[in-house]
Amino acid sequence: MSSSYDHLLQPIDLGFTSLKNRVIMGSMHTMLEELPDGFERAAVYYAERAKGEVGLIITGGISPNTEGVVAPHAAKLTNTEEVAQHRLITDAVHEAGGKICMQILHTGRYSYAQDLVAPSPIQAPINFFKPREMSLADIDRTIDDFVKCASLASEAGYDGVEIMGSEGYLINQFIALRTNHRTDEYGGSYENRIRFPLEIIRKTRQTLGESFIIVYRLSMLDLVEDGSTWKEVVHLAKEVEKAGATIINTGIGWHEARIPTIATVVPRGGFSWVTGKLMGEVNIPLVAVNRINTPEIAEKIIAEGQADMVSLARPFLADAEFVKKAMEGRRDEINTCIACNQACLDHTFQMQVSSCLVNPRACHETELNYPKTQHKKKVAVVGAGPAGMAAASIAAERGHHVTLFESGRELGGQFNMAKVIPGKEEYAETIRYYRVMLDKHQVDIRLNTRATSSMLQAGNFDEYIIATGVTPRVPEIEGMDHQKVLNYAEVLYDKKVVGSSVAIIGSGGIGFDVAEYLAHEGILPSLHVQEYMDEWGVDMSYQNAGAIKPPEIEPPAREIYLLKRSGGKHGKDLGKTTGWIHRASLKMKKVKMLANVNYERIDDEGLHIFHDDQQKVLKVDTVVICAGQESLRKLYDELDKAGETVHLIGGAKKAAELDAKRAIYEAAHVAAKI
Ligand code: NAP
Ligand code: SF4
Repeated sequence: MSSSYDHLLQPIDLGFTSLKNRVIMGSMHTMLEELPDGFERAAVYYAERAKGEVGLIITGGISPNTEGVVAPHAAKLTNTEEVAQHRLITDAVHEAGGKICMQILHTGRYSYAQDLVAPSPIQAPINFFKPREMSLADIDRTIDDFVKCASLASEAGYDGVEIMGSEGYLINQFIALRTNHRTDEYGGSYENRIRFPLEIIRKTRQTLGESFIIVYRLSMLDLVEDGSTWKEVVHLAKEVEKAGATIINTGIGWHEARIPTIATVVPRGGFSWVTGKLMGEVNIPLVAVNRINTPEIAEKIIAEGQADMVSLARPFLADAEFVKKAMEGRRDEINTCIACNQACLDHTFQMQVSSCLVNPRACHETELNYPKTQHKKKVAVVGAGPAGMAAASIAAERGHHVTLFESGRELGGQFNMAKVIPGKEEYAETIRYYRVMLDKHQVDIRLNTRATSSMLQAGNFDEYIIATGVTPRVPEIEGMDHQKVLNYAEVLYDKKVVGSSVAIIGSGGIGFDVAEYLAHEGILPSLHVQEYMDEWGVDMSYQNAGAIKPPEIEPPAREIYLLKRSGGKHGKDLGKTTGWIHRASLKMKKVKMLANVNYERIDDEGLHIFHDDQQKVLKVDTVVICAGQESLRKLYDELDKAGETVHLIGGAKKAAELDAKRAIYEAAHVAAKI
């Protein structure tokens, strides 16, 4: 074994058992828990990660009773009949040589089921329903429910449980003054407010004995008003250790906090300083979390003493073999999570099964596989954007002889533009991953080569995959040929000079991206922790409860208008879990968002519009066109007409919803079948 991740890959002794390395696959609700055949599928999903050598897996949250469920009829573990299905998971993971804990999650006032409870009847700003205040009898019963749930988990073969005490869920609601206005022994003083979690841990330990892992997820940074103070966090950690926890995992930010904690705008490992602050205060292992997506950043956190272990959740959707590849010196073969949330959290919040934008097999391991082919074919893939790269690499991995044609000078397509957007730097990792995989599977890459149908046909290919992508739409506005007009590709890719005042025509995903790009200059908060925390108002000195402070925002690099013809909110079609971040970010940079705009003409004076029943001139130096795209599918049509076996994928198939998630998904499905 050769690797430079010596700290990360060291085993850790928990006294009664040990873990083979310092990497935890963190809890993620995948929605498999809610499907009729979900446990069978989850067993395969978790077993692949166990085979990939992760030290410990923690499942998605399972409720200890009906009130604590995420949504109506969501997963719970309350009786022996429900144990059998969990056995499928634990057996599969153990057979694969792994260890697994079940997370016990009571959502409290975050439940989307109507019979919700909380320490006090205060409605969450992110829920439609108001909770009922728990009586003392409710509290006693709920503590027993947690303990019973842990016992059932043990019966189901889990190596332990994680008690979810962070992210603003029920336990966190007891701890913080924000949500606990009780006057009995579970409210008022801090001792009283932490009684609920401590009783759960103590009784679980008493009932389950010494050889059962109890991870407690402790909210180290609430990021909401009237959250915990640092003194309280330290006090709670010590009490949690005394009560019998084996490991303390870190929780960052309540779900209702308005500070991004896991999106791609967060610098890598950006919150490990919080766990680092707690190191030395307790004697049990501490786990750092959030935006840890490469073995280097994970190794650095442990080597620098910021934590004893790390927990990664989404990176295990992106690559089941994250740890194995790091162990085997194959770091560059790791398919890196780009923290986009598009196929994981956005799916969960829309009640769809999670997957991964860069790995459509995630949570679909029983349906989508890449078996070695019995019939080697000569395959041409045209276009080396995300769709083309994915198709070529998977087809070649299966044993086909693949040639990849790209008219541009480099691999990556639209991702070469995405990667220059502040907060989207991770997209470069996907290009790196495919570059390595294409090389590994010996794809013949022809850059600077514009493929024509006659040229392709002369190559005698058996099948063609056309991933020729899109071209920017040119709207019909008078003065489009004026020198101050640029399209987004000229700005992001060709780096053409943009003036100090700009109007952006079109406010879809790319209009937002261009506004973000043009608003920033100098140090990027997405790459620097202190700057990030200052920009979003996180108090790293932890002087205030909840660690929040007024944001310190660098002035925008330019005056920017973001325009659209339609009415309604800007960015309403952006990602479910990330759209608010993009909107908040542009607001911080004072981007002026105008809806219901009629474009009249562009001239030396600027952009003439009709808006709010008035003629106006936006006196801008540059107009950037981000008005969507049109498909480039001519090559497909020609080959199809000529009777060739040809597949069309990605933006070339459908430009209207040009989307890397769909592009890679289509690529994977086509390449898995040819
Ligand atoms: P888009 O989302 O379809 O937005 C196009 C914008 O152009 C709209 O705001 C539209 O608004 C405007 N428009 C359309 N036709 C026009 C015309 N003829 N004249 C003037 N304005 C026109 O396209 P996109 O911004 O290019 O993004 C493409 C795709 O990339 C998205 O669908 C998304 O999947 C993906 N993407 C996503 C993100 C993300 O953050 N998740 C980021 C970048 C790209 P009006 O019709 O109201 O004027
Ligand atoms: Fe990471 Fe995006 Fe995949 Fe989610 S969908 S696991 S955020 S790459």
